[in-house]
Amino acid sequence: MLETEAKVSTLQYDLYINQLQPVGIYRDRLILLAETRALKNIVDNNYKDVIKKCTNVVFPSIIDIEVITENDLDNVGKIEKEVDLPVSSSFVAIGEDKAVFVSQYTFDNFVVGKSNEYAAAGARSVAENPGKTYNPVFLWGGVGLGKTHLMHAIGNCLQRNFPSKKIMYVTCDQFVNEFIESLHDTANPNAMKNFRAKYRKLDVLMMDDVQFLANKEGTQEEMFHTFNELYLADKQIILSSDRPPKEIKIEERLKTRFATGVIADIQPPDLETRIAILQKKCNAKGYVLRINVLSLIAEKITNNIREMEGMLNRIISYSTLVGGDPNDMNIVNDALRDYADASSDIITIDHVVAATCEYFRVKREELIGKKKNKEIVVPRQICIYLICDILGQSVPLVSIGEYFGGRDHTTIMHARDKISEECKRSEVIASQVKDVRDKIYNR
Ligand code: ADP
Ligand code: MG
Repeated sequence: MLETEAKVSTLQYDLYINQLQPVGIYRDRLILLAETRALKNIVDNNYKDVIKKCTNVVFPSIIDIEVITENDLDNVGKIEKEVDLPVSSSFVAIGEDKAVFVSQYTFDNFVVGKSNEYAAAGARSVAENPGKTYNPVFLWGGVGLGKTHLMHAIGNCLQRNFPSKKIMYVTCDQFVNEFIESLHDTANPNAMKNFRAKYRKLDVLMMDDVQFLANKEGTQEEMFHTFNELYLADKQIILSSDRPPKEIKIEERLKTRFATGVIADIQPPDLETRIAILQKKCNAKGYVLRINVLSLIAEKITNNIREMEGMLNRIISYSTLVGGDPNDMNIVNDALRDYADASSDIITIDHVVAATCEYFRVKREELIGKKKNKEIVVPRQICIYLICDILGQSVPLVSIGEYFGGRDHTTIMHARDKISEECKRSEVIASQVKDVRDKIYNR
């Protein structure tokens, strides 16, 4: 019965479902934004079950679909703060000593090819002999190439083989935030002591995306001592980054530490490996896609597995939605129709603005609008700075001014120069600029 309900015509898809903007996943709810109340009502009354069914293909844990309108957005922000979504850590919950690893991120599910064989071998080796063979293990490579997957695979394997060991996976951001919170926790005089003890008593510490230690001198110092203590006690340290140690902007002594063990890079996989990865992902979802569909995806996206998966998911969920066959090339082409724009490499003002809004959680109208409170002005200036910096001469200051609600070009110049200066003076501003920039490029 659900089968027949799950059919939506292409027109209905375009008119209603494709108009919804995903806001986020909060616990087991997927929140979608509808531009008008009318659209919300139509979707609420007719399409929620279908959307849920298709969402479950990719996110089986989603129980509820909630359609909201612009007016509800502020409340979503509040909910989000309470829930504290571990977005970058891919749904990892960290308990006191016990990390929970993503169960699908195993060695068995990791396809090994020329581009990642050294990294995969290093990861396996420490998962079997922690603290004995290579220390630290430093995995580096571009976005979406499997660093986090490998770290979780190590975690899953270690937890099975050494159930009594204290293993911790933490994203660099989490570590930074925890450190800062402990530093400022005036209510608890033991906060810093507890923080230190927590990390220094571990048997295995995995820290993901250590490039985010850049410009955070206080946390670098803390990490230096944590590292030394663990290292001297033969405890295993595993680090990942989007670049090799020598290119991370951190203190020399920490760079040297990071580079003392084995450094393994992960390169974009070749076509065959990409297809093999897609096949594996299909199997896991219980779908069989023909090689021509898989090659189409693997040829379109060459250097980011996460994006490749995104395209695969899109084809599967679209075909479920319209009740079609994911191996039908017409369905595939329909599913990918809007994809080209979304994943194009050309960065525009819109991209920079969208990334800034997302990062600072402000609305676009506010960012380009007239409000002068600090919460808006700083993001606005950072946004203008990044537009100038990334798009350079290709966009005249006058046009940027127009985009930002008819501001004068001197105002744009002022914002640009101000942030340029602030970056040198303020660690906070510099790292915000860097984070937004990363968001733009990792889109
Ligand atoms: P990174 O941390 O390097 O940005 P992730 O580890 O998050 O990348 O990987 C992105 C996605 O690609 C994940 O879903 C992961 O399972 C998948 N992936 C990457 N490399 C492989 C591989 N060799 N085999 C199977 N899946 C992979
Ligand atoms: Mg990662």
